[in-house]
Amino acid sequence: MNPDEHETESTDVIPTTDVTLQHGLLQRQLERAGITGVPSPDQWSDLLAHIDQAYCEADSGRLLLERALDVSTRELGSLYEGLRHDADLRAASDRQRLQLVFDSVDTALIVFDRSGRISAANPEAARRFGGGADLVERRLSDLLQLEGRDGETRPLFTPLDLEALLAEGRWTRNDLRLFAPVPPNSAGDSLTDDSITDSLTDSLTDSLTGASPEGAREVIVADLAIVPFMDGDSCVGGLAVITDNVEREAARERLSWQASHDPLTGLPNRALVTERIEVALVQARRSNAWPSLLFLDLDRFKHVNDSFGHAAGDRLLSKAAERLLGCVRSIDTVARLGGDEFVILVESAGDTSLVRSLAERILHAIAEPFELSGEQTFVSGSIGIAHSGPIYNSADSLLHDADLAMYRAKDRGRNCFDVADDRLRVNAAERVLLERGLRSAIARRELGAAYQPVRRTDTDELVGFEALARWVHPVLGDVRPDRFVPVAEETGLIQALGDRMLDLACRDVATWNRDRSALGLDPLVVHVNISGRDLQSPNLLERVREPLRRHGVPAHWLVLEVTESMLLDDPDKALDRMRELKRAGIRVAIDDFGTGYSSLAYLRRYPVHMVKIDREFVSEIASSTQNQCIVKAMIDLARGLDYEVIAEGVETSAELEVLRSLGCAMVQGYFIGRPLPPEDAMLLAISSRTGSPDQVLSASE
Ligand code: C2E
Ligand code: CA
Ligand code: CA
Repeated sequence: MNPDEHETESTDVIPTTDVTLQHGLLQRQLERAGITGVPSPDQWSDLLAHIDQAYCEADSGRLLLERALDVSTRELGSLYEGLRHDADLRAASDRQRLQLVFDSVDTALIVFDRSGRISAANPEAARRFGGGADLVERRLSDLLQLEGRDGETRPLFTPLDLEALLAEGRWTRNDLRLFAPVPPNSAGDSLTDDSITDSLTDSLTDSLTGASPEGAREVIVADLAIVPFMDGDSCVGGLAVITDNVEREAARERLSWQASHDPLTGLPNRALVTERIEVALVQARRSNAWPSLLFLDLDRFKHVNDSFGHAAGDRLLSKAAERLLGCVRSIDTVARLGGDEFVILVESAGDTSLVRSLAERILHAIAEPFELSGEQTFVSGSIGIAHSGPIYNSADSLLHDADLAMYRAKDRGRNCFDVADDRLRVNAAERVLLERGLRSAIARRELGAAYQPVRRTDTDELVGFEALARWVHPVLGDVRPDRFVPVAEETGLIQALGDRMLDLACRDVATWNRDRSALGLDPLVVHVNISGRDLQSPNLLERVREPLRRHGVPAHWLVLEVTESMLLDDPDKALDRMRELKRAGIRVAIDDFGTGYSSLAYLRRYPVHMVKIDREFVSEIASSTQNQCIVKAMIDLARGLDYEVIAEGVETSAELEVLRSLGCAMVQGYFIGRPLPPEDAMLLAISSRTGSPDQVLSASE
């Protein structure tokens, strides 16, 4: 159909006038109902039904909407109601909470109106300023009375002043001296032990002086804050906050005393005496009157604790503190550092001989018997003295030196004093160097061994060598084991040192003995010193076997040397270790024999292979028949027990002769051979194969 035709058709069907009369909406509805042109009566009723339905549908939508609106309005209403209720409750509980705080804080709170008339006061305010009575209706200006310079009363402010203060906003003053009635000791007060005794003494003094608490006043030191209450722009009153400082001050004093004193003896503690030393040193720079410091450590105090109990130990310390106080001038400080250590700071010590006589007085005072649990007990003290001078610029250095000197006094046999000097300081500095150096020397395998020959007395034959640790420190030079072995023991480096020495000794004995059996010669033995700590370590056997295996060394080429005193540290453990070694075929020698406390009979418990008679007995053997007798007894006993014997420290031919005549089988010492560097020991080992005594010794240490 062509568009012109269509156009013609539609204009033809609906008369132009009708169409223009029809409303656009109606026209669209007619089209939707499929009615073109002017509707027939049937079509009209269809159309009306159609429109009716459309209205109905629209109506039900509107109803729904209305209902929904209605419901949500109601819900919102109840929600609002609920919210309002909650807020009221919260406000009520906030009020309660505030009231609770108001009533229970131990700060006095007073609410007043513009004129200063009190409308509310908390119990603390009533207690502090009303003597327990209610403060409501009283005037703030009457209540707050200052103590004047002359002790007279004057009001803190007049009602007029108060108005002016309130107008200024928040107003505070600290440490006001206010008059207040002496507070009643109400049962509601929380009573600490202190406050009980305080109130007891208070009432005691009251009854003694006959003073009545009625109307009694005291001065309290307090902080005051006045906070205005505003209603819009105008002030309607205010709150006074009064904090009593007396207890705070007392608490502060108590705390600072506790922080600076020893609770047991009541003496100043380390912190306080350190502070006083610092002050004394600073003053001495101006006055040139230098202080001295005594460091006292009680000897055998542990024994007191162990046998009488700690309570008795504490009593002894308190009594010792009293005795110390009795020895010094009032300007000096006696302090307890802790445990059984005390320090005495002697201000402007002047003549050092005076300090020495003080030390002697103290030693005497301490040596007097102490009565503990009905028994008399004796202790002694060791004192280190450090005289200060311009080189001291801290309390720590002075304390440190006095401490070092005290240790030297202990080493010297206790119950004496020693004075710090340059040697002590150098030794201490050296020790620090040693500690640091030893650690890196062991890690870098810088520790070496020197080998000192052991020979038979009958044939002069070389039996073997004792390995001695050697260390050349980059600054201190040659350091002897006597000095570094104790350091290694204290710093836990001793095991690494022992392992290093075992490794070197096994390596070297393996080379000395190469081809020896082919020549029909006995193998040389190597002696290695082990520390007491090693004897306690459970893996000792494995630590010894490992280098033996590594260098292919049979167990009987090795002798371990332990000193007598090491056995005594923990005899049972030592016994276990030694049994293990014996089972593995490793022999043990008792070193420095005769210097310890054990008897040969005691040593029988241990699977020992040989004893080494200490140099101490050998050194006077040629001149003293007494020493000869002792050494002879040792040799006979050892032989009787089937121990081999080596005499150490043989320095002369005379000594060697005596030992030979006494039947000592083996000897060691400078006369026999000095400790040798490994290459020289190797040469000696080789030359010993020919059986001829050698002269390689000249190259030794
Ligand atoms: P020690 O085991 O008694 O070793 C003997 C010490 O006496 C060695 O000193 C040695 O050089 C020295 N000496 C030897 N013959 C004579 C003599 O005729 N006259 C004098 N006056 N002295 C002589 P050194 O090497 O200084 O060793 C000292 C101590 O250090 C040793 O005493 C030993 O107890 C310990 N020590 C040495 N090396 C080690 C080691 O590797 N480990 C352990 N744990 N301790 C070792
Ligand atoms: Ca030794
Ligand atoms: Ca020895």
